[in-house]
Amino acid sequence: MGRLSEITPGVLVATSELYSTTTTVVTGGSGGGSLLIDPAVTVPELAAIAAQLAAARLVPQAGFATHPHWDHVLWCRELGVVPRYAAPRAVAAAVAGRDAMISGVLQGAPGHDLGLFGRLTALGPGGAVIPWDGPAARVVTHDAHAPGHSAVFLPGTGTLVAGDMLSDIEIPLLDLAGHDPVGDYRTGLERLAAVPGVRHLVPGHGTVGDAAEFRRRVAADAAYLDRLARGEDGGDPRLSLEWLRREHEQQVAHVRAGRAAR
Ligand SMILES: [Zn+2]
Repeated sequence: MGRLSEITPGVLVATSELYSTTTTVVTGGSGGGSLLIDPAVTVPELAAIAAQLAAARLVPQAGFATHPHWDHVLWCRELGVVPRYAAPRAVAAAVAGRDAMISGVLQGAPGHDLGLFGRLTALGPGGAVIPWDGPAARVVTHDAHAPGHSAVFLPGTGTLVAGDMLSDIEIPLLDLAGHDPVGDYRTGLERLAAVPGVRHLVPGHGTVGDAAEFRRRVAADAAYLDRLARGEDGGDPRLSLEWLRREHEQQVAHVRAGRAAR
């Protein structure tokens, strides 16, 4: 686990060796309060994050889970008892899909306290901001990749914490259980692309980028979706790992089957 390091004033990011998963900490709440987004991913890594926060006299005041996948809904006792928010559709999916998420965590990062795993609080109706007393944290919710997937935008620093999108190492991974996986992904991508003033991009997996890199990844993901919608295979430099090629093949097969049925 890399250490938490400041990417812009008041925003700390650490990156796990497992899937290059990022953890984001926003500081500036009262009394050292901090907002913890997608703390990840192994048991020792969460303990190390808690220890680094304690050493820096930062106290988790709230958590946020970008989406209901096992590696984004983790927590540990040392982080304290605070509300861990997510969009209402994400919370509903985490409840309905709890058994599958537990299988995921038992395989991917065993040893977590399952009593704390995936215990999320739905943002209020129309919840477009995370309720905490630190810097404004706007929520951009859509259904790309997972139901109720939400990016967090910090207008004060122009930081977009994108969840599992806009990665430099992963292709767009669609929610194939959804109604219209490609359409939902496009809508999500358009919402992120429309966020004004992005200067720092933090993907859920991969490396942090600047404004130009944000635009480059929006274009790369849009181009991937265009090729996918046409039923075309291959052609994305991110298709280097076996598991991503498998996911890609499933997505191509899904789209081709949909086209054949029309
Ligand atoms: Zn995910």
